[in-house]
Amino acid sequence: MSQLAGKLGIVFGVANKRSIAWAIAQAWHKAGAKLAFTYQGERLKENVEELAGTFGADTLLMPCDVTKDEDIARVFTEVGQKFGKLHLMLHSVAFAPKDALEGEFINTSREAFRVAHDVSAYSLIALARGAAPLMTEGGSIIGMTYYGSEKVVPHYNVMGVAKAALESSTRYLAYDLGPKKIRVNCISAGPVNTLAARGIAGFTDMLKHYEAHAPLKRNVLPDELGATGTFLASDGAGAITGQIIYVDCGYQIMGM
Ligand code: NAP
Repeated sequence: MSQLAGKLGIVFGVANKRSIAWAIAQAWHKAGAKLAFTYQGERLKENVEELAGTFGADTLLMPCDVTKDEDIARVFTEVGQKFGKLHLMLHSVAFAPKDALEGEFINTSREAFRVAHDVSAYSLIALARGAAPLMTEGGSIIGMTYYGSEKVVPHYNVMGVAKAALESSTRYLAYDLGPKKIRVNCISAGPVNTLAARGIAGFTDMLKHYEAHAPLKRNVLPDELGATGTFLASDGAGAITGQIIYVDCGYQIMGM
């Protein structure tokens, strides 16, 4: 139960109670970690305030648009002042303009490509650079990815290319940060019905497809992502870094 007792963490990417970040934050909290949260803008503040408030009225909550270096710098300064150090960081953030997730990939605009990569992939590098100096006792950084990085999933389009960049960045960061005992991994989740997922055309069909074709004949549950997030954050995963861990009811092994 107290696998993460004494650990201090920061969570990027809670939008509402369906967010994967919230499932992992709840699991980290149950395992004994003390957490800080960020939210993108005023629009989400109330939601995140309400959720984070369930962990205690004094839970640290900060605005952060991950495309803004000054936001990132302020967040880690505040975390440094309040926590003094950091052990865990969850990157559960992604965005691509809606039209880029509907039509054909070949029509991806330069701007949609730039935005998708900035928000969904570069941000992991920028956040890791902010977090690392506080991870003086070692740490665990976790990103969220999807199988559309390696195989064509219709409509996932530029987000698949951005996830490929995220996964490759995970490996390079793991190499850079390994000597500091900081591990960097990604969880590759099967489809989960969240705000971001509903932006992908045909998402409901994706859920049905997984149910029909995954070896376990069902979709992954948010609690199961929480449990994997807790494992990767724990000392039990002490020798695991640079990896993409599939939590998708086995879908990734299928060839047909
Ligand atoms: P979600 O609840 O909508 O979370 C996505 C989060 O990213 C939101 O909090 C969103 O805030 C935030 N975000 C977007 N642009 C941002 C920016 N510039 N700065 C800061 N935050 C920003 O959806 P989710 O499904 O849990 O997604 C979390 C992660 O899991 C993503 O990386 C996603 O690709 C990945 N994933 C999801 C699935 C799935 O099926 N749901 C499967 C595999 C991987 P706003 O709402 O304000 O934009």
